[in-house]
Amino acid sequence: MRAFGEAILAGASGEELAALPLPESYRAAHVLASDVEMFVGIDSAEKDPRKSLHVSEVALPELAPDEAYVAVMASAINFNTVWSAIFEPLPTFGFLQRLGREGVWGSRHAQDHHVLGSDASGVVVRVGSMVRKWKPGDKVVIHCNYVDDQDPSSHDDSMLASNQRIWGFETNFGGLADLTVVKANQLMPKAAHLSWEEAAVNALCNTTAYRMLLSRNGAVMQQGDRVLIWGASGGLGSYAVQHVLNGGGVPVGIVSSPEKAQLLRQLGVEAVIDRKAAGYRFWLDEHTQDELEWRRLGKDVRALVGDDPEIVFEHPGRQTMGASVFVCKRGGTVVTCAATSGYMVEYDNRHLWMRLKTIKGSHFANYREAWDANQLICEGKVVPTLSVVYPLVEVGEAALRVHHNTHEGKIGVLCLAPHEGLGIDDPELRERVGEERITLFRRLGG
Ligand code: NAP
Repeated sequence: MRAFGEAILAGASGEELAALPLPESYRAAHVLASDVEMFVGIDSAEKDPRKSLHVSEVALPELAPDEAYVAVMASAINFNTVWSAIFEPLPTFGFLQRLGREGVWGSRHAQDHHVLGSDASGVVVRVGSMVRKWKPGDKVVIHCNYVDDQDPSSHDDSMLASNQRIWGFETNFGGLADLTVVKANQLMPKAAHLSWEEAAVNALCNTTAYRMLLSRNGAVMQQGDRVLIWGASGGLGSYAVQHVLNGGGVPVGIVSSPEKAQLLRQLGVEAVIDRKAAGYRFWLDEHTQDELEWRRLGKDVRALVGDDPEIVFEHPGRQTMGASVFVCKRGGTVVTCAATSGYMVEYDNRHLWMRLKTIKGSHFANYREAWDANQLICEGKVVPTLSVVYPLVEVGEAALRVHHNTHEGKIGVLCLAPHEGLGIDDPELRERVGEERITLFRRLGG
C-alpha cells in the first residue's frame, strides 16, 4: 500500500490510482480469535489493549459490487476499539461469524483476525461494479453505519434495520489499517480545509452526538434548551457541546479535571462542573444510590444556568444514570447511547413517571444524519477535537489512553499519512474557520 500512499501524496489522479496494482496483503491493526481468553480473570481496568492489538499484514479481501477499497491516510480510536481489544462485553468474533452466514460476500468477514476501526479518512482506489457516485481519486471520510440495502427494514431509518452493524466493530476490514473495504453508502466527502488526521476523527462521535441531540430520532433540541453533557471534553461530549452552542442551547459540561474544564471554556462553554472537585458520590456502595447527591448535582446545575436541564446527554451509564434521570427537567429527555461504567443501570422510576420524563435510546446514525453532520464539519461549523496523534504501530498505546480516560477529545492515528498536517486542500477556508479553533484540542489537550 506504500505505493498508493506515495501516489496520493504526490497528487496522483484517479486514473493513476486505478492503474496501480493492488497488493495481496495490507498492514492492519487487528485482534486474534486465539487471544480472546487472554484477559480472563483480570479486572477490566487492567486489561491491556497493547497486548491484544496486533499490527501486521492481513490478506486483502475481494471487493463486492457495492463496495469500495479506500487507501486510509488516517484513522481514529473510538471506545469500540477498546471494547474489542479487551474482549468486553463480548469478543467481537461472534459478530463476524453471524455476518459470515449472510451469503458469499458476508462470508469474507468470518476470519480468525478482526481488523478494527470505525473512522477513517482517505482516498477511494477502486469501486465495485454497482458503485455509481464514487470513483478512484475521491477524497473521503467514512461513516460506520453498515446496512444491507436489500433488507426492507433498512428503508425507513436505517438504524432500525434488523441487520444493522457498525463497520470495524461488528464487521471486519475496519479503518485502523492502510486500506479498508466499505460499502459505497458509507462514503462522505472529506472536509477540504482539514488535514488527514483532523478529518479522520469526526464521523463516529460527531454524528452520534448530532443524532442524539438534533435529529427527530433524538432529543430534538430547541433554542434555549439547557443540556447537561457528561464527559463534555471526551469524544462524544466535545462534539455535543458544539452542537448545543451552534443550535442556541445552553451546555452544562461535566468533566473531571481543571485542565478539561479550561478546554471547555475555550470552546465557549460557560457552565462547567468538575465532577472530581465536586466529589459527587452517587453510589454509597455497590447496591445503594444517594438521592442527596443527585439533588446536590441538580442544585449545582441550577446555580449555573437557572433551571433544570431539558436534555441530559448520557453515556457513562451505571455510575450516572440515576442522577441523570433525577436532574432532568420535568417533561425533559435523557438521551443515552452507551454505558461505559456498566450497562445494568438503576434509577428511581418515580422521578421519571411523575415528572413525565423520557429516556431515549440512540445509536450511531443513518446515512442522511451522518451526511448532514459531515456537512457541518465540511463548512467549519463544527471543528475536530483531535488532541493527540499516534502512528498505526502504536495503536495499542493509543487505545490504552482511551481505556484509562487519560485523553481529551479524539485520538488520531496515522496510517498511510507519514506525518501530521498533510491533506489540506482549502487553506482559505481553514483561515476563515480559524487555525486556533481547529487546533484547540491539539494545542491544549493531549
Ligand atoms: P471518551 O472519549 O472516553 O469520553 C467519555 C467521557 O466520559 C470521558 O471523557 C469522561 O469524562 C466521561 N466519563 C467516563 N467515565 C465516567 C463516569 N464513570 N462518570 C462520569 N463521566 C465519565 O469516550 P466517547 O467516545 O465519548 O464514548 C463514550 C461512550 O459512548 C463509550 O462507552 C462508547 O462506546 C459509547 N459510544 C456509543 C456510540 C453509539 O453509537 N451507540 C457512539 C460513540 C460512543 P470526564 O472524566 O472528564 O468526566
